[in-house]
This record gives sequence, structure tokens and C-alpha cells, in this order.
Amino acid sequence: MVNQEYYNLGTAPSVIRQLFAYGLEQAAKVGADKVYDYSLGNPSIPAPKKVNESIKKIVDEMDSIKLHGYSMAAGFDTARAAVAKDLANRFGLDVKASELFFTCGAAPALISIIKALIVDADSEIMAVAPFFPEYRPFVNANGGKLVVVPADTKAFQIHLDEVEKRITKNTQGIIINSPNNPSGVVYTEETLKGLAALLERKSAEYGHPIYIIADEPYRELVYGGVKVPFIPCLYKNTIVCYSYSKSLSLPGERIGYVYVPGFADDADAVYAAIAGAARIMGHVCPPTLMQKVIEYCAEERPDLVAYDENRNLLYNSLREMGYECAKPDGAFYLFVKAPNGDANAFSEKAKLDHNLLVVPADGFGCPGYFRLSYCVANDMIQRSLPAFKAMIESYK
Ligand code: PLP
Repeated sequence: MVNQEYYNLGTAPSVIRQLFAYGLEQAAKVGADKVYDYSLGNPSIPAPKKVNESIKKIVDEMDSIKLHGYSMAAGFDTARAAVAKDLANRFGLDVKASELFFTCGAAPALISIIKALIVDADSEIMAVAPFFPEYRPFVNANGGKLVVVPADTKAFQIHLDEVEKRITKNTQGIIINSPNNPSGVVYTEETLKGLAALLERKSAEYGHPIYIIADEPYRELVYGGVKVPFIPCLYKNTIVCYSYSKSLSLPGERIGYVYVPGFADDADAVYAAIAGAARIMGHVCPPTLMQKVIEYCAEERPDLVAYDENRNLLYNSLREMGYECAKPDGAFYLFVKAPNGDANAFSEKAKLDHNLLVVPADGFGCPGYFRLSYCVANDMIQRSLPAFKAMIESYK
């Protein structure tokens, strides 16, 4: 006998993975140049040079036993200090190394935070559609309830009145992901200030803090000078979840962190509960080598020229053809309205007729749209344009 909930999760098909596997099969049959795969959010720009240089330096210079050894559960003090210094310099907060907890990427960071905030079977965590599909199992399989705020399909900001309607005495937190996967939208300071004011009012009404869980793996991926507000500067009860998967193109290296600002309500208890949650998941002391790399590369930023070119090419071309898209200021996704509102049918037809692989957004809590990951080669985008054109024409 096995745990039925985990069995179901382990056997549930992932639309994204299925599309990706289909693309590989088709590439072997018809040639990779005739498959247009926009399914996965796997970075396509190399990690900054300093990352590989640091790896070489660390491997050459660090004592081999220490290099391959455990760190402290929360990570090396020196690595945490480097990140704290960078955050403090950029956002003007007095960030301390002791407020950071290194994790194996954003996923375990998020799960640790969610576990820490779920106090009983009534605990609710909100997510704003469209959202990263894993939020659902992360909350539900940890004994909480995911409460979905419907999408604002005009601007893909946050419908504050819809948030307000859903806040109850059991609301423990709201997950905010900006720049957003899958919309590519960056929440404005105005939106976030509005949310902060609402949460402050509701926290006072219910007599306990409602935390913002800021899921920020795309923080550094923004274009055209758009600013991503640092949410702890706007709302004290923010817990930040960060990853280097996308910003330094290191998804396979599994490195990120949680930041619990010391000025948040019950900060010490929240931090300790996150540490405890990480402990029972066996997710403590992330790879020593990667922590050391981050120590050297905390101030590194990605070179976004290639993503920006892809974004402009895809967005402008699709708009010209008549597609409706959310304004993509960040991350590496374009969120497109299916021409007749049926994104599943669009995705299936695009796949079968053109080997054009797009992800229908039902799993992201926003049916009727599909997601394109444009972290791909620019020439693939060029080659795929006739397929997009043929698809929209076929709906006329
Ligand atoms: N949160 C969002 C919004 C994501 O898009 C992803 C990955 O795609 C994650 C979290 C998980 O990232 P990581 O690779 O750091 O676990």
C-alpha cells in the first residue's frame, strides 16, 4: 500500500512534460528544425562567465573535504553574508545574514514557507491566477487549502476586491509571483501598495499577520527599464523565496534562499518553523559548491539581450498577426489568448498540424490562454512564425 495522494501526484500527467516529450519524438522523425517547442521554462542563455570561473577556482583552491562536505543547515555564514550585503545595497534594507536560509532552489523554499504557515486543516494560502501550477500540490498536499484569486485578464495585475472577498480568519498568506510565470507581467508598485494596505487592514481585523510569500525566481529578468518593487520594502510581513535557477541560468544546480526580514511579525518563529520544515523534508545544507559560487557571484546579473530580442520578435509578430497578449515586461514567457477561447483545442491543433508546442493555461488557473516560453533560439522563433500565422488564419 502507498500513500494515495502522492501516488496520484506521481502518476498525474504533466501537460508541459508531455509536450516536451512529443517535441523530442517529432524532432527525431521530421527534423529538429521543423519542431517549434515553447513548452519548458529552461533558461537558454549561459550562466555568467564568473559562475564557471568561480567553480574552477573553488574546486582548485578549496580543501577537498570541505568542498564536498556538509554546510550548516541554513548555509554558510559567508555565503549568506554575501547575499545579505547585495540585497541591502540594492534595496536599502538592513538585511542580515542570519535572516537568510539557503535552499535547493525556489521549490523547496516555497514548500518550507508553506509548511511553516499551515497551522491546521483550515489554514488557507492564496494564489493569484495565473500562477505556477505547483502551488496547488505544494499547499494541498501539505494539509492546507489553496484559495485562488481569479485573473485580472485586462492587465494581469491583482484584482484587490477579489482578494478581499476571499480573505478569511484562516488566511495565513498569499503567494505573489512577479515577474510572473506564466504572464510575464510585473506587478506595479501601485498594485503592491494596494495589496499591502488591504493585508494590513485584514491582519488587524483578524488579529494575526497575513504574510506575503514573494516567489521571486524571475526578479532579475526584466526588460525596458521596468522596476520590480522589492516587496519587503512595501509590506513588512513578507517572506521572500528566491532562486538562481533563472537569474543565473542554474536550474540544475538547485540553489536559492528564503529571506525572513527581522522586522516581520514573529520573524524568529517563522524562520525557525521554515528551518524545521526544511529539516523534515531533508532539504537542509544545499550543495556546498553552489553556496560558495553564490558567495562569489551574489552581485552577478544575467545578460538579457537574447531574451529581450526573443520577447520583442515574438510579441510584435504575434500582435501584428492579431493575437492578444499580456504585456511581457519580465520573466521569459508570453501569455496569449486563444483565438476562440479554447486553449486546449488550439494547443492540440498547433501540435498536430504544425509541430508548434504551446502550453494551455488551465493548470495555471487561467483557461482560454496559452503560455509560450521564449527561452529558446531566436531562429526557432523566426521559423515558427508561419505556423502561428496559419493557426490564427484557420480561426477566421
Ligand atoms: N516558482 C516559479 C514561479 C517558477 O516558475 C519556478 C520554476 O519554474 C519555481 C518557483 C521553482 O524554481 P526552482 O527551479 O528554483 O525550484
